[in-house]
Amino acid sequence: MDFALSAEQQQIRDMVSEFVDEEIVPVADEIDHEDEFPQDLVDEMADLGLMGMPFPEEYGGAGLDYHSYAIGLEEISRGSGGLGTVVAAHTSLAGNMLYEFGDDAQLEEFLTPLAAGDDVGAFALSEAGAGSDVPAMETTAEKDGDEYVINGGKLWISNGSVSDTVTVFAKTDPDAGNKGISSFIVRPEEDDGFIVENTEEKLGDKGCPTAELRFDDLRIPENRLLGAEGDGFVQALKTLNGGRITIAARSIGIARAAFEEARDYAGEREQFGQPIGEFQSIKHKLADMDTKIQAARMLMHKAADKKIRGENFIKDAAQAKLYASEISREVANEGIQIHGGYGYTKDFPAERFYRDAKLNEIYEGTSEVLRNTIGDQVLDN
Ligand SMILES: Cc1cc2nc3c(=O)[nH]c(=O)nc-3n(C[C@H](O)[C@H](O)[C@H](O)COP(=O)(O)OP(=O)(O)OC[C@H]3O[C@@H](n4cnc5c(N)ncnc54)[C@H](O)[C@@H]3O)c2cc1C
Repeated sequence: MDFALSAEQQQIRDMVSEFVDEEIVPVADEIDHEDEFPQDLVDEMADLGLMGMPFPEEYGGAGLDYHSYAIGLEEISRGSGGLGTVVAAHTSLAGNMLYEFGDDAQLEEFLTPLAAGDDVGAFALSEAGAGSDVPAMETTAEKDGDEYVINGGKLWISNGSVSDTVTVFAKTDPDAGNKGISSFIVRPEEDDGFIVENTEEKLGDKGCPTAELRFDDLRIPENRLLGAEGDGFVQALKTLNGGRITIAARSIGIARAAFEEARDYAGEREQFGQPIGEFQSIKHKLADMDTKIQAARMLMHKAADKKIRGENFIKDAAQAKLYASEISREVANEGIQIHGGYGYTKDFPAERFYRDAKLNEIYEGTSEVLRNTIGDQVLDN
């Protein structure tokens, strides 16, 4: 067992950390305020290989292992929770769907520009009536000659309004429950019938557009089917398992930002003639915040390790995401508390970290659903 980062992982962390400090942190408040997709930063991240971290170089990626990808995403999320979602949805969800289930031609045509960061990806699974309950989806894909015709809609799709490639889930056999779900590659610019209905106004996660999509007789060629008809539900679950490791990374990145800001503030702010960090209650808060971050990071790397080894990592990814998301909200909450009244204002980023952290407990499996998953695994159901 080795807890040290390899030289390559250390190098990745230093490179991304420097980029985050120089390019993201200075504009993070502006991203939060404006809530515009930061295309210029995405282009810069593409140049650094950060839009395709875990994919092989032959497909335009950086060829990094999953630990390094998680390390990179932790750093990006330390700078901006919204950018953390942009990269996670693009890479862990859309990119991984193509990488895991695409055929050679699909990898070449659709994964390569995505991994290089020339295209932006989105993953469209959730619907108004089908969030946790995926098989309740109503979107359909009907075969018509050598095409599929997709009708329906999706809700809360990260990157949905700015994406070039969307992996869309739809029912090809509406009577077959979860076995009737299939997945497709959709290209919003080329495919008529792809409509962005709305982008949500959200509590946090600003800069990553969360879109409501509608498909109105959207026609795609049959070679845009990913895998076989009926594979979609299992593909989604497998993809979300890997995605959970990176939502743990986003959680840890936000928690670190909240902790580091609070620690620095505690050293500067004086009350009763001394820095507040010298009060035992504040020192203990900081101790707990750091301990939780360290524990969450270990769970994240344990899940990544099992994924790399090809072992079953369903429980590990769920535990990493569950724990990291809950501690990110707790740490961000204490960050506000340490800032006192200033923490409740926009003068300090403490409140942004809290708003960004909350999302981790909701998407890619709510905490309640993850506890079901972990409980089933523990009881071996
Ligand atoms: C900002 C944002 C970005 C998102 N990005 C994407 C994206 O890119 N792609 C995508 O497909 N989706 C995305 N989502 C959707 C997200 O995955 C869902 O919101 C999430 O899965 C929960 O579904 P729901 O909102 O319908 O809640 P519901 O499923 O209606 O849940 C409501 C409450 O009931 C609880 N609950 C539901 N079922 C159970 C159960 N079986 N046992 C115990 N408790 C239960 C939940 O935990 C929750 O507390 C995003 C959501 C948000 C807010």
